[in-house]
Amino acid sequence: MTTELLPDALLDRIRDRAARYDRENAFFTEDLAELVEAGYLTAMVPTELGGAGLSLEEMTRQQMRLAGAAPATALAVNMHHVWVAVARTVRARGDHSCDFILEEAAAGELFAFGVSEAGNDLVLFGSASDAVPDGEGGYSFHGTKIFTSFSPAWTRLGTFGTDRTGAEDRNVWGFVTRDGGGVEVREDWDAMGMRASQSCTTVLSGAHAPADRVVRRIAPGPTTDPFIFGIFAAFEILLASVYTGIAARAVDVAVETVHRRRSMAAGGAPYAHDPDIRYRLADAAIALDGLYPQIAQIARDVDEQVDRGPLWLPQLSAVKTRATETAKDVVEQAVRVSGGSSYFSRSELSRLYRDVLAGIFHPSDDESVHRAWATVLLGPVPPA
Ligand SMILES: Cc1cc2nc3c(=O)[nH]c(=O)nc-3n(C[C@H](O)[C@H](O)[C@H](O)COP(=O)(O)OP(=O)(O)OC[C@H]3O[C@@H](n4cnc5c(N)ncnc54)[C@H](O)[C@@H]3O)c2cc1C
Repeated sequence: MTTELLPDALLDRIRDRAARYDRENAFFTEDLAELVEAGYLTAMVPTELGGAGLSLEEMTRQQMRLAGAAPATALAVNMHHVWVAVARTVRARGDHSCDFILEEAAAGELFAFGVSEAGNDLVLFGSASDAVPDGEGGYSFHGTKIFTSFSPAWTRLGTFGTDRTGAEDRNVWGFVTRDGGGVEVREDWDAMGMRASQSCTTVLSGAHAPADRVVRRIAPGPTTDPFIFGIFAAFEILLASVYTGIAARAVDVAVETVHRRRSMAAGGAPYAHDPDIRYRLADAAIALDGLYPQIAQIARDVDEQVDRGPLWLPQLSAVKTRATETAKDVVEQAVRVSGGSSYFSRSELSRLYRDVLAGIFHPSDDESVHRAWATVLLGPVPPA
C-alpha cells in the first residue's frame, strides 16, 4: 500500500485543524497547501507526466485515509481527483481528449466539479444550463451550478450545459478557467456538515471553454460514452471511499471512548467490557468490513478495463449507496456506544455524524440506484 503520499504526521496535522475549519466554516487552506506540497493533487497523474501514477484502486485507500482525518478536505479534493481519474480512464482507452487535465494538474491547476443544478435530477444526462457555440468549436456556459466544492481554490471548472441552438440538442462538456471571465463564486456555503468543503454556488454567465477544452458534444440522455462512464466510475468509487474513511474513523474514536467510559453499574469497569456495547461496535465494524473489498474490486475492474456490460452503472451506483448508507449507520452506532459526550459540538463524533449525512445527497441517490436495479431485474415499466 502506498502511504508515503499521506504520512501519519501530515494526517495528524490535518486532523488537528478539522475542528477549527468546521467551527469557523472556513476553507481548508493550510491542509491544501500541505497536500499540494506532498504531491497529493497529482497522485493519479501518470508518472510520465510528472505525477505519482497511482491507480484508481490505490487512490481509494488514500482517500479513505484522508477522510478519516478530515472529511470535508477529502470530499473537496475528491472532485479534483475525479477529473484526473476521468482523464486517465479515457486515456487508457486510447482517447487523448482529456490529456490536458493530466498536464494541467501536473502543472498545479486545481479542478472542481461544476455539474449539480437546483432541481436537476437528470444529473449527468441533462442540464438546465446553456452552452452557446462561439462558431470556432468552443462554447460559453450560462447557468447556475450548486454545491461546487473546493470553491475558494479551484482554477479549472469541469462543467456542462446544453447547446439548444442546432436542430438537435447536445450536451456540451468543457473546462473553463476561473480567471477567464463569466464566473461568479457566491460565498453562500453554510451547511450542517462538510463545512470546510466550501461547496458554494457558481454562476456561469458566459464562462468560455475554447475548442481544445470542449471534450464532449453528445445527445442528452443515458449514454455509454467512455467520458461519461469515466465520470460515473470515478465519482461513485472515490465518493464511496470518502464516506468509508469517515466510518472507519468513527469506529476508531468509539473504540477509544468505550475504553475510557466507565460503568458505575459494572463496578467501574470500562464500557469496552459491556456485552451490549461490544456487540454493537462489532456489528458496526462487520458492516464496515464489507465495504473494503467491494470498493477495491470495482476500482480494480475500472483500472483493468473489465467489461461488466449493462451491470456497470447499476453496480457503480450500488457501491456508492452501500458505502454512504453503511457509513451513516456505522457512525450512528459509534455515537450510541460513546454516549452523551458525543452529542457535544466539541466531540469529533458529532462532527463525523454531521459530515457523514452529506453522503445521502450525492448522486446516485438511494431511490435512483433502486430504480436502476429494478430495471435490471424486472425490465422497464411499460407506459400506462
Ligand atoms: C457536501 C456536498 C458537496 C457537494 N459537492 C458537489 C460538487 O463539488 N459538485 C457538484 O456538481 N455537486 C456537488 N454536490 C451536489 C450533490 O451531488 C447533489 O447534486 C445535491 O446535493 C443536490 O441534491 P438534491 O437533488 O437532493 O437537491 P435539490 O432538491 O436539487 O436541492 C438543491 C437546491 O436546489 C433548490 N431547488 C430544488 N428544486 C428547485 C427548483 N425547481 N427551482 C429552484 N431551486 C430548486 C433547493 O432549494 C436547494 O437549495 C455536493 C453535495 C454536498 C451535500
